[in-house]
Amino acid sequence: MKTYRFRNGDSVEAIGLGTWKSDPGKVGDAVKTALETGYRHIDCAAIYGNEAEVGAAFDEIFSTTDIKREQVHVTSKLWNTAHKKEDVIPALKKSLTDLRLDYLDLYLMHWPVAFRPDVEGFPKSDDEYLPLDEAPIIETWEAMLDAKKQGLIRHAGVSNFSIEKLEDLRQKTDDFPEMNQVEIHPYLQQQAMIDYGKKNSMLITAYSPLGSKDRPDPMKSDDEPSLLENEVINSIAKKHDSTPAQVLIKWAVERDTLVIPKSTNPGRIRENLESAEINLDDGDHAKIKELNIPYRYLDAEMMETESDMYQDIFDD
Ligand code: NAP
Repeated sequence: MKTYRFRNGDSVEAIGLGTWKSDPGKVGDAVKTALETGYRHIDCAAIYGNEAEVGAAFDEIFSTTDIKREQVHVTSKLWNTAHKKEDVIPALKKSLTDLRLDYLDLYLMHWPVAFRPDVEGFPKSDDEYLPLDEAPIIETWEAMLDAKKQGLIRHAGVSNFSIEKLEDLRQKTDDFPEMNQVEIHPYLQQQAMIDYGKKNSMLITAYSPLGSKDRPDPMKSDDEPSLLENEVINSIAKKHDSTPAQVLIKWAVERDTLVIPKSTNPGRIRENLESAEINLDDGDHAKIKELNIPYRYLDAEMMETESDMYQDIFDD
C-alpha cells in the first residue's frame, strides 16, 4: 500500500475508509471490517453523527485484536458551528470522547464557513451565519494549532479550501495546513490543487471518489453524470480484470492523492482496498484525463449566503 509522509515524517496510507452517510447500526461493522481487512486509515467527522459508534468499533478492535491504536490513522473534522476560537477545543474533545481516542492523527477544518453555534443542519437565513469578522479563519486555525501543541492532534489541516483561501491563510500563519481534503475524481480532476499541494508540502485527500451516489436527494441533480457507469472507466476496468470502483480509486492514488471511498458493504470495502493491486498505464491515464468536465457532486450551494458574506465558497 502506498503511503504518504507528513512534514514531520509521520506516514499515512493512501486508501482510507469514508464514513459519511454510513448509517447507525452499520458504520461500526464497516469500520471493524475495514480494519480487519487491512485498512489503516479511517475518515470521520463530527457532523456525520456516527462517531460514537465508530469509537465503539475502535475500542473493540484495539482491545481484542493485534491491531494497535498507533497503527491506525484517524481523521476527524471541526464542524462549522464551532469556528469561534473558544469552541474549537471543546468540539475536538467531544469527537475524541465519541471516538474513544486520546488523540487524532489529523483534524481538519471541515469548511471555510462559520455558522452560529446553535444552528442545526444548514442555515435557513443569513443571520444564522457568523460573519468572518466574528470568526476569522485565522483564529479558528490558530485554535487548531493550539490543539496540536497540547497533543490532542498530531496534524492539522483543512477541507474544501480553494487555492485563493489557502493563499490568504498562508500570509497569516507560519504553520500552514498539512492537508486539504477536497472533491476529486475524473470529472473534477483539480490538477492545479494537486500541484499547489506539492509546492507547499501539503497532502491532498480526494473525497467522493466514486461519485457519492448515496448522498441525500436535495444534493443531487437529475441529470448528473455517473462515474461508475462511465464507458471509459468501465473499459479500463475490463482491461485490468477489475471493477470501475477499483479503477477510480487507483487513479486517485496514482495521482499522488489520498482517497477515502465510503462503503458499509463488506465485499465492497474489501474490493476498494484491493484496488491497490492494479496498475494503470499511461494510456489509461490519458483517456481518463479527457473526462474532466469539471463537475462537482457536492456544490456548496446549501452553505452559501444570499448576501456576499459566504458566496462562491470554492472561488471557481
Ligand atoms: P463515494 O465514496 O464517492 O461513494 C459512496 C457510494 O459508493 C456509496 O453509495 C457506496 O455504497 C458506493 N460504493 C462504495 N464502494 C463501491 C464499489 N466498490 N462499487 C460500487 N459502489 C460502491 O462518496 P462519499 O461518501 O461522498 O465520499 C467518500 C468519503 O469522503 C465520505 O464518506 C467522507 O468520509 C468523505 N467526504 C468528505 C467531505 C468533506 O467535505 N470533507 C465531503 C464528502 C465526502 P455502499 O456503502 O452500499 O457500498
